[in-house]
Amino acid sequence: MNNWQRIDDEAAMLAFGASVAQQFPSGGLITLHGDLGAGKTTLVRGLLRTLGHTGNVKSPTYTLVEPYHLAGRDIFHFDLYRLAEPEELEYMGIRDYLRPDALCLVEWPEKAAGVLPVADLRIHIRYCGEAREILLEEFNRF
Ligand code: ADP
Ligand code: MG
Repeated sequence: MNNWQRIDDEAAMLAFGASVAQQFPSGGLITLHGDLGAGKTTLVRGLLRTLGHTGNVKSPTYTLVEPYHLAGRDIFHFDLYRLAEPEELEYMGIRDYLRPDALCLVEWPEKAAGVLPVADLRIHIRYCGEAREILLEEFNRF
């Protein structure tokens, strides 16, 4: 894989998240791939803030999903780190979240293998010393 782009610091990651929001004027499924502390939640925070969210963005580690309603649309932030088995997503009604008009951002999508549909955009984040690097993989919509 190539085209990794460097993200120098947290501010750059927030800005990157904001730019992702502009690419998704309506709904879609975005998966975030990367180790603990890579910056997945930070990117989501940048996206939510640019759409008008002013409060905290806590990772929904225990609740699995945190809903937002911003700029007239539903945004669902998932953290599947503690998902015991992919089928658990079906019990929580994942299909109701994955509507064409809703934007879904999923951390730890690997935990839901076989249950989540193919993403519109996969964002890979890796450590590069103190900085980070990002690689985008675009699917369905582009
Ligand atoms: P994840 O959700 O992937 O586990 P978080 O976004 O919660 O990661 O945490 C990332 C941490 O790394 C934050 O404390 C953030 O301040 C720090 N950080 C340092 N450099 C960067 C960078 N370039 N991009 C994103 N986060 C960074
Ligand atoms: Mg996180």
